[in-house]
Amino acid sequence: NQDRTRLPRWMKMKLPKGESYSKVKNLVHKHELHTICTSGNCPNIGECWNRGTATFMILGEICTRNCKFCGVKTGKPLPVDPNEPKRVANSVQLMQLKHAVITSVDRDDLPDLGAGFWAETIREVKRLNPETKLEVLIPDFQGRKELVELVAAANPEVISHNMETVERLTPAIRSAAKYRRSLEVLSYIAGAGAVAKSGIMLGLGETEEEVLQTMDDLLETGCKVMTIGQYLAPTCSHIPVVAYVHPDQFERYRTIGLEKGFSFVESSPLVRSSYRAEQHVEA
Ligand code: SF4
Ligand code: SF4
Repeated sequence: NQDRTRLPRWMKMKLPKGESYSKVKNLVHKHELHTICTSGNCPNIGECWNRGTATFMILGEICTRNCKFCGVKTGKPLPVDPNEPKRVANSVQLMQLKHAVITSVDRDDLPDLGAGFWAETIREVKRLNPETKLEVLIPDFQGRKELVELVAAANPEVISHNMETVERLTPAIRSAAKYRRSLEVLSYIAGAGAVAKSGIMLGLGETEEEVLQTMDDLLETGCKVMTIGQYLAPTCSHIPVVAYVHPDQFERYRTIGLEKGFSFVESSPLVRSSYRAEQHVEA
């Protein structure tokens, strides 16, 4: 891992504590639940769990792609576990989450790229937890509109698909995804009537002009919710951080984004795509 002692002061993480946090932590431990919050070592865990939100990953733990910024294992995935939708739904119930986020690895090996399993998981979570708001962070499904619509038909409150970075840097950072194709995916989401959301990371060498262009491109798809956070390299074999962007610059992007027409822009160094996700539901 990168040397965390050399991080700028604004990247230092707060120690998680609080009553709800401890309750969720004990449940996760007792029932061996799997969340990205713990496996990804997320800096916001104390804050999110205290607010009753958490993120799960489905379709296994091995991704068929190999993005240069991502810490998820890559290779040949294991067969899909048919009990996973039920397990995630039970976890949401046990953790009494008001807001749950689900994401997945990419499954380019499956005939429907995992879309059917996604829809089943959403339906199962909603069946067991009718009060819980659900956000799903989906892959690009190779740009296949019918698969995006299959997921949207299961009616999650928010559907996100991350651009991750600006157009120029996309080929170097994302393994198989394409900038324009991801924009198309977002337009399918918005076209299906769901709240569309996207996120990028800063510190990969992007310019301000490029970030503003990405905002314009997103708005054109109908996406009105955006997250912007600082990239951190998961290990030293991942693409290195080019810059630690100052919090004032994040704030500047937030202001500009809102002026441009986003209804919600979450922008600060520790922001992750699922950070304060519960606020994006009504956006
Ligand atoms: Fe979990 Fe997302 Fe919050 Fe991190 S930002 S703790 S991954 S819900
Ligand atoms: Fe990570 Fe997603 Fe890329 Fe897979 S497709 S390597 S999970 S960012």
